[in-house]
Amino acid sequence: MQYYSTNKKSEPVGLSHAVLKGLANDGGLYMPERIPVLDDSFFSSLHGMGLHDIATQVTSAFLSDDIPAPVLAEMVEETLNFDIPLVEVEPGIYSLELFHGPTMAFKDVGARFMSRLMAYLHMAGKHAGTNHEEVVGIGMTDTQGERPLKVVVATSGDTGSAVAAGFFNVPGIEVFVLFPKGKVSPLQQKQITTWGKNIHAIEVDGTFDDCQRLAKQVLGDKKLNERFLLTSANSINIARLIPQSIYYFYAAAQLKKPALPLVFCVPSGNFGNLTAGLFAAAMGLPVAQFIAATNINDVVPEYAASGLYRPRQSMQTISNAMDVGDPSNFSRMMELFDNDHVNFCKAIYTCTFTDSQTLEVIDQVYRQTGYLMDPHGAVAYLGAKLYQSAHDHPTNMVFLETAHPAKFSEAIEGVAGKIPLPPQLKSVKDKKEHFVSIPNELQALKELITSE
Ligand SMILES: *Cc1c(COP(=O)(O)O)cnc(C)c1O
Repeated sequence: MQYYSTNKKSEPVGLSHAVLKGLANDGGLYMPERIPVLDDSFFSSLHGMGLHDIATQVTSAFLSDDIPAPVLAEMVEETLNFDIPLVEVEPGIYSLELFHGPTMAFKDVGARFMSRLMAYLHMAGKHAGTNHEEVVGIGMTDTQGERPLKVVVATSGDTGSAVAAGFFNVPGIEVFVLFPKGKVSPLQQKQITTWGKNIHAIEVDGTFDDCQRLAKQVLGDKKLNERFLLTSANSINIARLIPQSIYYFYAAAQLKKPALPLVFCVPSGNFGNLTAGLFAAAMGLPVAQFIAATNINDVVPEYAASGLYRPRQSMQTISNAMDVGDPSNFSRMMELFDNDHVNFCKAIYTCTFTDSQTLEVIDQVYRQTGYLMDPHGAVAYLGAKLYQSAHDHPTNMVFLETAHPAKFSEAIEGVAGKIPLPPQLKSVKDKKEHFVSIPNELQALKELITSE
């Protein structure tokens, strides 16, 4: 399988290059040259199939040319060492709980899979020479193929912890997580800084934007690239997208009434989660409708309404992992829809909600059903209800619950009181933090990356 750039100004590349470099030389995002369609036999046995079984079949449709079957099976098992249950919240409305991983957000799925895939491709390249040279040969000068792999990621909170947890103890990889001083929650900071070993937490005296700028600068630094294989772990990487398709199939496998039309409502920021759903549909999963629900950062709903895509600065909300003003996966969605606005609108129903609507519905659903949603999942629930009110045929309505509510206890305390911390979050509270503080300067970061 080859991967092409959404900007189409650079050559298609193999998996190793796409994953280890992340972004194409022309600044585009990698897309698989084709989306594989799964066999009828897969779909006829899907109902009741287990998570690992589904995961192996879905990922191997993309990766079997490059990854031996037993290796892929092991990657899948290590990635999904937690369940993704489908919970009926009220008749016909289901929450797909994506938050049972180590950092309690859906990003665990993509980050854990990517870390293992990167480690494998890096090692395979070292041993065989081929994969690695392919990576090295494009845009890099060194051809020794023996350089250590260093992953750099900037975070405003959730991504850093999922990436750290995903890469912890993965051999041959050093990870540098840049977070802005005083701007992540105390719990998020613990989730980033309590790992040690190959995870290096770096507190930057600046904002998230400064962290992102520094990360971009080191990734583009010629001298450092000669010594190390540098890569980014943020959500543009195709290795995070592919495994996210798995749970759309797994949701279908868990339905009580599989004959009803299936509708997914996805709380969206960078639209990686939704794009993975579109992959699942292109692979043959019968999805009647996708709904993309956003907070007031509504660039994509605005595109659906007007045909105009106008990226802008994001605004802060309580569903902060969706505070995105220029969603990176928009270009991938455009590829899937042949850049056609009508195609886009047919496949995706979009909607937007405010913080006060979000808090109100968390309260209402909690009082009526006892089910406590986090702000991101609540935005999706609102989207599901809005769609239902306009379409009265019965459906299996599945909204994606992307984080555990305890991660956002400050925002929703007024509704549910103090939320008990689940074990994953409790255990980091007592661990000791390790991090290095640096000024907002490239040189300081370069020195750190060189010395570790
Ligand atoms: C990242 C994130 C989202 C948004 O996902 P995208 O793929 O960026 O659209 C939603 N909810 C939570 C909890 C997240 O961490």
